[in-house]
Amino acid sequence: MGANAFALTGNVVTMTAAPNARVVYVEDGKIVGVGDQGYAGELQRRGVTVHDLGGRTILPGFIDPHLHFAQYAAGTHRGIDCRVPACKTISDVLDALRTGLNAGRTVGDWLIGYGNLFFDQKIAERRLPTRLELDSVSRTTPIVLHCGGHVSVLNTPALALAGVERFITGGEGLWGSPVVHLDDAGQPTGVVAEIDGLLPIPESSVEELTRFYSDTFHNDFLAHGVTSLGEMAESARNVEALDAAVAAGSLNGRIALYAMAPSLLPVAAACDWVAGFSSRSGPERVWARGVKVFADGGYSARNAASLDDYSRDHGHRAGYRGKLNLSRGALMEAIRTARHKDVQIAIHTNGTRAQREAIEAILAVGDAHDHPPVRIEHLGNVLDSVEEIASWRAANVIPVMQPGFLHNFIGDYLPMLFPATGSTGRLPLRTVLHEGVSPVISSDITLGGEPGATNPLHTIWSAVSRRSYWGNHIEPEESISVAQALRLHTIEAAKAIGLDQVAGSLEPGKAADMVVLDRDPHTVPEAELKDIRVERTYVNGVLAYSGGEKA
Ligand SMILES: [Zn+2]
Repeated sequence: MGANAFALTGNVVTMTAAPNARVVYVEDGKIVGVGDQGYAGELQRRGVTVHDLGGRTILPGFIDPHLHFAQYAAGTHRGIDCRVPACKTISDVLDALRTGLNAGRTVGDWLIGYGNLFFDQKIAERRLPTRLELDSVSRTTPIVLHCGGHVSVLNTPALALAGVERFITGGEGLWGSPVVHLDDAGQPTGVVAEIDGLLPIPESSVEELTRFYSDTFHNDFLAHGVTSLGEMAESARNVEALDAAVAAGSLNGRIALYAMAPSLLPVAAACDWVAGFSSRSGPERVWARGVKVFADGGYSARNAASLDDYSRDHGHRAGYRGKLNLSRGALMEAIRTARHKDVQIAIHTNGTRAQREAIEAILAVGDAHDHPPVRIEHLGNVLDSVEEIASWRAANVIPVMQPGFLHNFIGDYLPMLFPATGSTGRLPLRTVLHEGVSPVISSDITLGGEPGATNPLHTIWSAVSRRSYWGNHIEPEESISVAQALRLHTIEAAKAIGLDQVAGSLEPGKAADMVVLDRDPHTVPEAELKDIRVERTYVNGVLAYSGGEKA
C-alpha cells in the first residue's frame, strides 16, 4: 500500500465509459482503483481506510477553462462590493462607498467600487451613477466605480488624475482606447469606457497578490469544487504571484495560463513566452498552455462585431455593427505563428461577425485537423444560424461557452441590443451538441461577475434551466441534461486546457482531484441545482476544502 492511501464510497460519477461506481481508491495522490461495493469490501480487508459517504455524490474536481482569476481576486479584495442585489439603488451604492471610505478601505489614495456587468440595467434607476453623485461621497478622494469590464464611473478628482481630457475627441473611439461620455453642456458625466488600465492606482505587491489569490481560490473556487483553472493572464506579475501561491501550497489547485496578447506581450513574443515557460510549482500545477488574441470587444461596451445592426436606441448610427479588432490576415498570422511554436491559440470572439472571421481565418490557413484544436472563446454564445456549425467542425475548434451569461445578460439584454435578431440563437447548447461539436463551459468570471458565478453548479443550472436575470425562460428547447453539462465542466474542459491525461475523470492513473456533493445533481429538482453544497474538495488526494473550513 502506498502512502496516504484511502478510499471514498458513495455515488461515484467517473466521466469515463463506465460512468457509475461505488468506490474510488487513492494512493500517493493518484487514483489506483474505481469499483463496486465488492471492491470496497476487498480494500477494507486489506486494511485501507474507507470513508463511507453514504448517498453523497463524488465527481472529478470541476475545471473552469476560461476565467480572469487574478483580476477577480485582486479586484474583490481591493474594491468595495456595490453589486446588485445587495445594492438596489444608486443611493445604496453611494452608502456602500461612503462606508468603505470611512473604514479606510482605500488603495493608495483611491477608493475603488465595483458593480455588476450591465449595472445600468440592473440598478433600480436603470442608469449609471454620475460624477456629481460620486462627488457627494468625496470631493477630495479619487473614486472609481467599475461597472463590468469595460465601463467605469469616475468622480471629479479621479477624472483629473486620469487625465481624461486627452481622450475627448468627439469620435466613437477605437477598441481599447477610452471613450469619455459628455453631457449636453460638454462636461464629462463621469462615465468613461475602456479607462481601467490607464488609471494611476497603485499596484498590489506580489506578497499581497499571493494572499488575495490564496483566499479567493479557497473561498470562491475550492468551496464550489473547482480544482483547475484556465487563467487569462494579463501580466507577468500576476503569473509570478499565482505560481508563488501554488508553490507555497497556500493555493492548492492547477492553473493553465493563456498569455493575453497584446496586453501581456505581442503575439509572437507571447508564443515564445508560452513555449519557454517553466513554473516553480511544476508542470502539473502551473503551466503555460496558449496565447489569447482578441478578434473583437464585448457587448457591454457595444464593440462586439456582429453580423446584425445594433439598436439605434443605444445611440448608434444606422448600420452600426461593432468593431473587428484584428483583420483576417492578422488572425491568420497569429494562427500560423502559434502553430509554428506548437502553442495553442485561443481567439476571443463575442459577436457573430468576429466568430465567422475567426473560423474563416482558420480554414484559410488550412490543415485544421493536423494541429491542436483552436479554442474560440464565446463561440456559440450567440449563433447566427445552424449552418455555421458545419464550418466549426471543418475548422476543428473548441467553442468555449458561458451558460451563466444567459442568466447574466444574454437572456435579457441581447434582444435590447439587437431588436431584429437578438431573441434567437442564444447559447444553443443542445443544437451544438446535436451537430457533433463538443463545447466546454466556463464562468469567465471577472470583477463584476454575479455573486455565485464562480460556482460551476450555477453555470450548470444555467445550461439546464435557461432562466434569465429577469426570470425569462430563454429558448427552453436548447436545454441540455445535467449529465451533459457536468461533462462539459470536467473531462471536456480538461481537454481544452491540456489536462486530460492528468485530471478531469475518475480513473486509475489520474490525479485524485475530487469533489463530494451533498446531493446528486442528476436527481435534485432543477431549481435546486445551484444550491447543492460542496462538502469536500480534494486536490491530488489532499483534502483542500472541508465543510467551510480550510483543511
Ligand atoms: Zn474572458
